[in-house]
Amino acid sequence: MPPMFKTSLHAISALALLCGAACGQPISTAQAVSDAKWADNVTVTVAADSFRYVSDSLPNHALADSYLIPIGQAQPFTDFEVKKTEGFVTATQIDVIIPLMPLYSETVTDTSLGMIGVMISGSRFFNDYENPQRSIVAMDDQHTQDGASFLDDCNAHPLQNGSAYHYHASPPCVSETVDSKGSHSIMIGVLLDGFPIFGPQGDGGVIVTNADLDECSGHVGATPEFPEGIYHYHLTITQAPYSIDCYHGVVDASVTTQMASPGGPPDFAAAAAKLGIERHTLTDALGEERPPNLEKAAATLGISVEVLRSALGPPPEAP
Ligand SMILES: [Zn+2]
Ligand SMILES: [Zn+2]
Repeated sequence: MPPMFKTSLHAISALALLCGAACGQPISTAQAVSDAKWADNVTVTVAADSFRYVSDSLPNHALADSYLIPIGQAQPFTDFEVKKTEGFVTATQIDVIIPLMPLYSETVTDTSLGMIGVMISGSRFFNDYENPQRSIVAMDDQHTQDGASFLDDCNAHPLQNGSAYHYHASPPCVSETVDSKGSHSIMIGVLLDGFPIFGPQGDGGVIVTNADLDECSGHVGATPEFPEGIYHYHLTITQAPYSIDCYHGVVDASVTTQMASPGGPPDFAAAAAKLGIERHTLTDALGEERPPNLEKAAATLGISVEVLRSALGPPPEAP
């Protein structure tokens, strides 16, 4: 056999060994999910092909004493107020079903605002952005004023109303409790498509960069939980994307749409009642698009965007 041919065969078998999920053979994450170091406030129930994650959403690590909360909805945010954490940051229940046999898809799906995954700390995981247009990256829009910051040391913060504490990037407060120097990071969460999420350490503990990862910040390789290799996501720490901006796994649209609103979908019946119209008139105007095009819907209903927005309540990700 010519040496070149031999080498390429060798490369192919190494790839076959490592690619697993990416090559069409789903790998079960059941053992890793069962063994993960979930916080005390997290209940994980493993079923045949999925698991249910229930938590009050408060992290098992310390919060900042106060947060810098934007005033108003206009972005990029320019006006902030300091909110003391105590009495402001509230628990907001998470109850979600996530697949245990994630299916790798060649087609990627953009992650939306709102919850895109769950963390072992008990809290939500969000993508990079603060706005649906994906132009404002939370990590690159950090503000500090009067001793309070927009994002805390864990790269996280609550929503504008104090609910749904969430991470926008690798949380050192979580990774550092499980990772060891010189080794690949330990699983710190699971994305809604079922693929595991890791901190910034790759093979041998070397910090991964975006150059090592695909467009969804994932790659195929071995991890301590999956020595045979699996497709998995890494949270990088040097430049955007810090978080996960697309799913490389098959996602259940009904789950991701619902999770885009921290407290579930808006109460359309209540919003319609406030506007003095039928529920179906409102939902027809909002259409299927998520997040809905409020300008278009308001024009259809013959009302202002402000009136529509106030009837629907705060948007899912603000901030
Ligand atoms: Zn890796
Ligand atoms: Zn945020």
